[in-house]
Amino acid sequence: MKNFFRAAPFAALAAAALLSGCGKSGDSGKIRMITEATFPPYEFREGTEVVGIDVEICKAVAAALGKELAVEDVEFDSVLPSLIANKAELAAAGITVNEDRKKMVDFSDPYVETGIVVISAKAAPVKGADDAKGKRIGVQNGTTSADWCVEVLGQEPDRFDSPASAFAALKAGKIDLVVADVDPAENLVKGEDAYGITSEPRFLTSESYAVAIKKGQPELLAVINKTIAELKASGRLDEIFAEFKAKADALVASEEE
Ligand code: GLN
Repeated sequence: MKNFFRAAPFAALAAAALLSGCGKSGDSGKIRMITEATFPPYEFREGTEVVGIDVEICKAVAAALGKELAVEDVEFDSVLPSLIANKAELAAAGITVNEDRKKMVDFSDPYVETGIVVISAKAAPVKGADDAKGKRIGVQNGTTSADWCVEVLGQEPDRFDSPASAFAALKAGKIDLVVADVDPAENLVKGEDAYGITSEPRFLTSESYAVAIKKGQPELLAVINKTIAELKASGRLDEIFAEFKAKADALVASEEE
């Protein structure tokens, strides 16, 4: 008996103690990540599996806790409400840190600096707010791109369930431009002759992405921050970015065949 207690690895015990304090996970061997898988290269489907940069970051967090990762896919505007409703322990979906969201959840340290851009016809380039004003703008619902239309332009955008469905509406002539995060936007215009990223300067905003958790869990937040710091310091995060940008691009190329 004595030996059993001595042999129990401290890290596993600490992780178990930590997880028991962060809401019911249902299966104690798993930690659940909630995401929205229409956002390459951060999260997208490869066959039926959800893969991407955010999934890799959360897998590393799960490993640090001695757990396996389970991924759940919902619409973007349900990601933070689902986290708050205890449907998952981690939310990672290219989520931009902002003051409104900080009132609802706690954010880790950021893992990337990024921003939103305009996609429009190259023949009718939309460079920024002045050009966009009064035009029909497509965005993904619940995003900082939707906020930009309302707050900067004072105008209601057309809301879609993914950047790809907004882009499809642009190509069908139903809207004049799309505002979206730069990486999924680059993915959408890849191989398109008539459409491109036309904002100039390229970024309409500067934003950073982080992992969100339910408020009031400093130990879990510390594990996530340590994991992100280690991924950055070892160069592994750069490798993950390169790997999933290439995978997302390859998927576009295969769809065009
Ligand atoms: N970064 C944007 C936001 O947080 C969009 C994220 C997304 O669509 N997955 O609002």
